[in-house]
Amino acid sequence: NQSASVATLVEWLHQFGSLVEQNKGYLTDLDSAIGDADHGSNMARGMTAVLNQVADPGAADALFKKVGMTLVSSVGGASGPLYGTFFMRFATGLGDGTEVTPEALVSSLRAGLDGVISRGKAELGDKTMVDAMTPAVVAIEGSVASGESLADATRAGAEAARRGRESTIAMVARKGRASYLGERSKGHQDPGATSTTYLFEALAASLDG
Ligand code: ADP
Ligand code: MG
Ligand code: MG
Repeated sequence: NQSASVATLVEWLHQFGSLVEQNKGYLTDLDSAIGDADHGSNMARGMTAVLNQVADPGAADALFKKVGMTLVSSVGGASGPLYGTFFMRFATGLGDGTEVTPEALVSSLRAGLDGVISRGKAELGDKTMVDAMTPAVVAIEGSVASGESLADATRAGAEAARRGRESTIAMVARKGRASYLGERSKGHQDPGATSTTYLFEALAASLDG
């Protein structure tokens, strides 16, 4: 089972940045329904800052530590510290080389998810990015454990993220600004679960082929 190179992981960031940029208005529309209408601009600003810093990536762990710190300092709001924590914790499992084994990638994704949960205290069903991130990581873990390629595993991860994202529509928000709406948050798709789905779609796209 093939490793992922730092170049592939940089491609992941580029693909994520493109999806965020293309869907900036949509993410903000979702956030205007149950939040403060800034998720698209927050994420686009953050990923622009990130992509300005990946030209000379170096080692995997240092690169993603920098990505996380850049998101924390440039995004603000709830999503900045949460995505920032995701990438900083993701970084710790990658090692200081330029190749990442499937096992290291899986344990790093799990560390990133655990970081988001410990920082934001959201549980499954609270209508947050955790509702897309958890099934995605679980699917990738399961696929890699059963010997599938990273391309297949991350495709399964993206599919699981999409299902998780859809599941947020029926949920009542219990974390973040959307929770102020209580029952009225029902019937709306969570913006953060939507951007997290792009994160996993971008990962699959970068590992495809
Ligand atoms: P803000 O709410 O500060 O304006 P954003 O609009 O950028 O920040 O991000 C909102 C998204 O952040 C939500 O859609 C949700 O997915 C996510 N979120 C908010 N609070 C939490 C939390 N405690 N844990 C996990 N995710 C959260
Ligand atoms: Mg917002
Ligand atoms: Mg805000």
